[in-house]
Amino acid sequence: MQVSRDEVERRMARFKETAKRAGVKLTHQRLEIFREVASSADHPSAEAVLKALRPRLPTLSLDTVYRTLWLLSDLGLVSTLGPRREVARFDANLARHHHYVCARCGLTRDFESEELNALPIPESVADFGSVDATSVEVRGVCSRCAKEEIEESDSGDSGGDLGTKRSGQ
Ligand SMILES: [Zn+2]
Ligand SMILES: [Zn+2]
Repeated sequence: MQVSRDEVERRMARFKETAKRAGVKLTHQRLEIFREVASSADHPSAEAVLKALRPRLPTLSLDTVYRTLWLLSDLGLVSTLGPRREVARFDANLARHHHYVCARCGLTRDFESEELNALPIPESVADFGSVDATSVEVRGVCSRCAKEEIEESDSGDSGGDLGTKRSGQ
């Protein structure tokens, strides 16, 4: 799933501007890595970014992808979902939004909601520390996984591995 061309260009312009101000060099690899995250609505992991760029950048390493993504995160150009480990996924949508997450295949999509933006934070949260941002994660089974489930039960074949059917997300 692709982000609109206009939005990608806005994100690229913000990246160039921010990098310039921070004195970060705009290397070809950094530009390509950011563009990949900025143009995907999939909230890709570092592995997914590497896989997408490999055909064009055969010498790109996973280590470079990680270092670049964390640099982008430090610059405030991407946010992350999940813990700061290998499984982290990267999000170039800096507008206030919430997430739909498929519990089965991990598909992650953005959505906006004025109602959820206005959710009151319980006072008890202050016991844990300060609050910078709130976002809601709605979990469920995406329509594609639900469809696969129906097809599998129709054919009586339960041997398929749902986790591997993730192409074209
Ligand atoms: Zn799914
Ligand atoms: Zn997002």
